[in-house]
Amino acid sequence: MTTFKELGVHPEICAPLERKGITTPFAIQEMTLSVALQGTDLIGQARTGSGKTLAFGIPVVQRSVSPKDRDYIDLPQGKPQALIVAPTRELAMQVSAEISMISEDRGLRVLTVYGGAGYDPQLDALQKGVDIVVGTPGRLIDLANRKVLDLSHVHALVLDEADEMLDLGFLPDVEKLVTLTPETRQTLLFSATMPGAIVALARSYMRHPMNIRAESASERETVPATAQFVYQAHDLDKPEMIGRLLQCEDHDKVVVFARTKRQAQRVADDLAERGFPASPLHGDMQQAARERVMQK
Ligand code: ADP
Ligand code: MG
Repeated sequence: MTTFKELGVHPEICAPLERKGITTPFAIQEMTLSVALQGTDLIGQARTGSGKTLAFGIPVVQRSVSPKDRDYIDLPQGKPQALIVAPTRELAMQVSAEISMISEDRGLRVLTVYGGAGYDPQLDALQKGVDIVVGTPGRLIDLANRKVLDLSHVHALVLDEADEMLDLGFLPDVEKLVTLTPETRQTLLFSATMPGAIVALARSYMRHPMNIRAESASERETVPATAQFVYQAHDLDKPEMIGRLLQCEDHDKVVVFARTKRQAQRVADDLAERGFPASPLHGDMQQAARERVMQK
């Protein structure tokens, strides 16, 4: 079996991975790492849960210059070297946690920025200097417009979960961000699906990108370990059905998705009323409250 080291991953990155018990690359990682580590533009397509974060995270971290070496090369101290754009705050935080984990031994400074949180901590961090910025499109543009986020030294740009950014209407913001980074950058685009608008985005902003797909198009978007069941029910019966489903099996943590913020709130309220320790999570909630829910 191929190891991370054999794919060209630096020992300083293999070490924290090993500490987390991550020793064997997943398919998308095995297919993309040696290419991305050379600085090639890349489009990576693989299903949710297949390990796309490390597929771009490792090259981004490995190709960033550690602060201790920055004096030796022509790079201004403290300006972001890499920018990772994610569609939602939760995804940005997840990506950020994984990037921080693999850059532990290299001493890279990782900053997460998203809307709904106070500006001051983000401004302070940017002032002190950061190496890798992970954020959602709106707040990134906001900080760039305020001239506190300087993207002119970014050598690696990652567009993560590109199809979700399309669904959320972020494509114009993403394009704006791309134009704020140098044309010589490496661009990595990752997505579970490849709708036409994403292909068009890649065509206009990437240089001879290599297209890597970890599974055939006919496969489902979730990993095979996911069993899927469909229950048809009248709207009025749904709260009762969810309640029973949650009762009848040996569940640990459960995520219930709803179509709208109001529905999410309503389902959570209803479950709480039925005695389940349920909390809502949606964009109308304060960031601090959202983080508390994630923690719980
Ligand atoms: P995706 O972005 O493709 O949906 P993620 O990058 O979030 O998937 O990865 C899903 C989970 O798999 C994460 O918890 C991650 O830490 C874990 N993971 C990723 N690569 C490996 C690996 N090579 N070995 C073990 N676990 C891994
Ligand atoms: Mg992902």
